[in-house]
Amino acid sequence: MDLTQSLIDEVTGRRDDIVALTQGLVAIPTLNPPGRHYRAICNYLAERLAGSGFDCTFLRAEGTPGDSEKYPRWNIVARREGAGSGACVHFNSHTDVVEVGHGWTTDPFGGEVKDGRVYGRGTCDMKGGLAASIVAAEAFIARCPGFRGAIEISGTADEETGGYGGVAYLAEQGWFDPDRVQHVIIPEPLNKDRICLGHRGVWWAEIETHGRIAHGSMPFLGDSAIRHMGAVLAEMEEHLYPLLAGRMTEMPVVPDGARASTLNVNSIHGGEPEPEPDFTGYPAACVADRCKIVIDRRFLIEEGIDDVKREIRDLMERVKSERPGFSYEIKELHEVLPSMADRDAPVVRSTAAAIERVLAKAPDYICSPGTYDQKHIDRIGRLKNCIAYGPGILDLAHQPDEWVGIDDMVDSAGVMALVLADLLA
Ligand SMILES: [Zn+2]
Repeated sequence: MDLTQSLIDEVTGRRDDIVALTQGLVAIPTLNPPGRHYRAICNYLAERLAGSGFDCTFLRAEGTPGDSEKYPRWNIVARREGAGSGACVHFNSHTDVVEVGHGWTTDPFGGEVKDGRVYGRGTCDMKGGLAASIVAAEAFIARCPGFRGAIEISGTADEETGGYGGVAYLAEQGWFDPDRVQHVIIPEPLNKDRICLGHRGVWWAEIETHGRIAHGSMPFLGDSAIRHMGAVLAEMEEHLYPLLAGRMTEMPVVPDGARASTLNVNSIHGGEPEPEPDFTGYPAACVADRCKIVIDRRFLIEEGIDDVKREIRDLMERVKSERPGFSYEIKELHEVLPSMADRDAPVVRSTAAAIERVLAKAPDYICSPGTYDQKHIDRIGRLKNCIAYGPGILDLAHQPDEWVGIDDMVDSAGVMALVLADLLA
């Protein structure tokens, strides 16, 4: 029997183990925010992986956003050396899950098995993927004990809130430097037959227009910041949105609508503050002297971030030239550059071949409309040979009654084991 088939058999024989491991991970309620039980899940992973010959390092991302004595940002990196020198394949999963929310019919931390699925918060995003990668590595080690190179499995904090206490911290500490890690797979739930090459870029900014307060019965004595902002929004509607919609990327972003540049206005606020919910009085008559919006601009690999920013500044200057007394401020909040692995990158080719073998079909190549931890591995770690590949249906992430399919976990674990064989055996 060839190695490929023997690995697939080995993984298939560990089906119950994948389920039990997923349930064990889901039972630890690593809710973020605020970032609960990170140490507990690292301990759980260490116990499991030490038993399979991994050396485990615990890393607290001290001083990163959200880190405190009450909610420490613990991460784990587990490394298993092979018999000889070679490349290092790293599987990175985030251990945090988002809040439970309403509408559940199963216990969110119960890991109930029903109709070939495991239910619970984080099953799909992404404890099922973490379990699949662990079982893949263990199955590979069992069948190829003399492999060359190294396997790493990390469990990292805070992906759901930007990853600054997780992958960004590890990357800053050199854990993703290309001289120690050569291939990275992030088992996010993107379906077992799809390879996610990367994501679009992000620029968040707060735009404020200024006015002058006056009595609302004589608005001509003041200057309304809300009317100024109205002019900004009108300019966006008339000129910017059509321009963005016409700008299409070569990146295979899904869904289709996200192949264009997009702009969302996250929030708008102007004039007097929102009253307290139990306030029963009337508002006061005032002209608004401040109005703010927060914009979320998602941009393409073909666009430069400087051009993205200049486009907004130019728009504001156009409005200014048409409105006497118009003044504004732009405060930059957050930015992430687009990231995309090459289709010819070794980890991509290897995963594609493994998908064809396990699923008997060619993979789909996609990019994500939003960002994930690949941004830190690319920008800080300077490692381009990185993809997201894992079981689960992305649409179920963050939903009530979240689940992951057991067949999907087993199949994608088979794919990951074959990738290890291709890169390390
Ligand atoms: Zn995720």
